[in-house]
Amino acid sequence: MSPLLPVAEAVARVLALVRPVSDVIELPLLEALGLVLASDVISPLDVPPLDNSAMDGYALRAHEAHQALPVSQRIPAGTVGTALGVGTAARIFTGAPIPPGADAVVMQEDCTESAGNVTVSGVVTVGQNIRPRGQDIAAGETVLAAGRVLRPQDLGLLASIGCSTARVYRPLRVAVLSTGDELVEPGSDEPADGAIYNSNRYTLAGLLRVLNLGFVDCGIVADTPQATAEALLDAAARADCVITTGGVSVGEEDHVRAQVERLGRLDLWKLAIKPGKPLAFGSIGETPFIGLPGNPTSVFVTFCLVARPFLLKMQGVAESEPLRLQARAAFSVARPGTRQDYLRVTLENTPQGLQARRYANQSSGVLSSVSHSNALAIIPVGATVEPGDTVEVMLLDLAIRG
Ligand code: AMP
Ligand code: MG
Repeated sequence: MSPLLPVAEAVARVLALVRPVSDVIELPLLEALGLVLASDVISPLDVPPLDNSAMDGYALRAHEAHQALPVSQRIPAGTVGTALGVGTAARIFTGAPIPPGADAVVMQEDCTESAGNVTVSGVVTVGQNIRPRGQDIAAGETVLAAGRVLRPQDLGLLASIGCSTARVYRPLRVAVLSTGDELVEPGSDEPADGAIYNSNRYTLAGLLRVLNLGFVDCGIVADTPQATAEALLDAAARADCVITTGGVSVGEEDHVRAQVERLGRLDLWKLAIKPGKPLAFGSIGETPFIGLPGNPTSVFVTFCLVARPFLLKMQGVAESEPLRLQARAAFSVARPGTRQDYLRVTLENTPQGLQARRYANQSSGVLSSVSHSNALAIIPVGATVEPGDTVEVMLLDLAIRG
């Protein structure tokens, strides 16, 4: 029996084979959310463009703040004042440029204005309540680097330097094929004896949507060599990458392996992963191919752990490794395993920190274990766990989205 391939090694192998997409499109900023920046963005300007006030209050010279000062001008945001006369103060509002000569702003709560003069209570230090020019971004600075998935705050950051468009990689098209004679689509007639609803198609469509990858729906394929070959060729012609579920084990109803070998190239791995294990990787012609297992929970876990980093690198994403956290186990693992186990758990805040509670049924066919959990607890090969032990966990939202 060939040894099981460790997860990290499988990921390293698939990543080494990625040919990233090179087509770049320029989109209005409002349409670029979740897409991947194709070139570095350099700021042409300082943000903020001028020293400005962090408060509603009075701009003055700190060393003159002990005396009553005539209020010589009023500077709302969006206007520029004039040089501050010696021995005077300027009424100023949040975001308004500091007038030349002033070196501090005192917030209005610490000031009293009467008969055109302002008196300040408390100590005033040079620079207080002044937001210096360029404190956020300096002209010439790389604001965001190529390979970054644009998040809401990034759109705001690009807008803050005047960008109205973003150069991003075109979204990949990912074909999804569900193999299995037993499968029927929800919404179709009452399933016949022995039939089950196709859930993998929906899980994968959702995962792709969240990652902003295009979903090319290639439906269900029957368990025959010819139907499998035709469906694989059709999928490869329509997409940048083909993902199948099921049919990669060694049973005689498993045709994916033989057909991919015929149409391209295939490595079939027995991964040291639970849930999961059989995973195929290769190509149909020149189109990359990933054969996920059939069991719905295995599909979710192997997609997140192996297919996701592959697809994101192909999409041009620079960094996709999700954060891992630590939690206290509220469960035990008595027998050391031969595969790295990704237990579906619920993380809860407790006074002692994060605690991980294991979903009762961890069978790879039980998709409820994923829906009713919020994290995966990673149990390494050979490890045992006792309640109270520290385990590594990965939030499901991060495992999906990063
Ligand atoms: P297979 O690897 O094709 O033998 O499939 C393994 C298990 O996963 C079987 O119990 C299948 O019925 C189930 N399965 C395969 N594909 C799907 C799917 N698309 N939706 C739900 N269950 C599936
Ligand atoms: Mg099958």
